[in-house]
Amino acid sequence: MKSWIEISAAALAQNVAAIGRVAGSETQVLAVIKADGYGHGATTVAPALVRAGAHWLGATDLAEAVDVRQTLGSADNTRLLIMSAILPEDSPGIVEHRLTPSIWTPEHIQALESAAAAAGTRLAIHLEIETGMARQGAAPGSELAAALQALAHSPHIDCEGLYTHLCESEVAHSPVTAQQRQRFTAALDQVLAAGISPRLVHIGNSSSVDESSTLPFIRQMAARIGALPMVRTGLAVYGHTLTVEGGQPHLNAQLEPALVWKAPILHLREIVPGTTVGYGATFTADRPMRLALLPAGYADGFRRAGSSGVGNGWVMVAGQRAPIVGRVSMNLTVVDVTEIPGLSIGQEAILLGPGVTAEDHARWSNTISYDILCGIRANIRLV
Ligand SMILES: *Cc1c(COP(=O)(O)O)cnc(C)c1O
Repeated sequence: MKSWIEISAAALAQNVAAIGRVAGSETQVLAVIKADGYGHGATTVAPALVRAGAHWLGATDLAEAVDVRQTLGSADNTRLLIMSAILPEDSPGIVEHRLTPSIWTPEHIQALESAAAAAGTRLAIHLEIETGMARQGAAPGSELAAALQALAHSPHIDCEGLYTHLCESEVAHSPVTAQQRQRFTAALDQVLAAGISPRLVHIGNSSSVDESSTLPFIRQMAARIGALPMVRTGLAVYGHTLTVEGGQPHLNAQLEPALVWKAPILHLREIVPGTTVGYGATFTADRPMRLALLPAGYADGFRRAGSSGVGNGWVMVAGQRAPIVGRVSMNLTVVDVTEIPGLSIGQEAILLGPGVTAEDHARWSNTISYDILCGIRANIRLV
């Protein structure tokens, strides 16, 4: 028996609706399902997000996007953006599965032009602009000029979208974001001067919607060229946000975490004072204790950093905190249920959910909630 996660379709729907409300009714919502839907299962959440009204979905790469396309079926016309850089050999698959790649180099464009021409079709692409991450995208100036020139020679490629990504959107009044806006404005000028007018402009992730001050800029950039504005939200779709620094959150209070991670109690054990627990004997009982054994460990993404004496994590059992005792091991974790009466084998413990959030796990592990959610490996049930 292993742990499992339950995904609430109702919470996903509530979150998509909340993002739409805060972003503004004219703004399209791309729900990011990359990294296997932030650990929630890309093919599990995709149909629920489409039903919830997400206009676009964003997948990691060709393989993930194809899985999702096949799950949605041939009758579904949801648009799917591939968010990571493609390789030239991905091009035929992108055309075949009606996917939309993020591109920025002449090599991307030439490979896609050949594939689209061979299939006798026209392929929409989104042109990514580098404004401050030095990760993906063409920087305004000569790099962007080279991409625009390649587009001019590619009759089978349609530059539908123009976008960039902010590197610290959770920080209000960020000078870095201000500079990224300036660079994006320069890029838009350059694209327009080349005679290209994209129909979608997208900037901003979950924190951009939560912090909200970049939303008017996104709408303004889109309005300048008669395009639709769009936001690309991942974390918020699943019901989480980062803390807004130096400003007010506008979205956070309207979100509902969509995932609950559960495991059954496999065994209950009474121990006497002096008994040591787990690898390294890092914990010694100083009183009689009752311990519960749970089938989840670091192989399942239940971080070792939650061990007692390290992050001092806990799980929830019968609505009460049960502290982790000793080290989290590969497939097993022991928790203290001395103060929780009336337990039985098979009873469910909550590893992550009400009372023990992704943010709690992130704090014990000195990381971010994204990392915790993506790292969960458990069977998925949509509820
Ligand atoms: C992952 C990602 C997003 C979504 O970010 P969240 O903070 O989860 O909303 C948006 N845009 C790009 C380019 C990304 O890589």
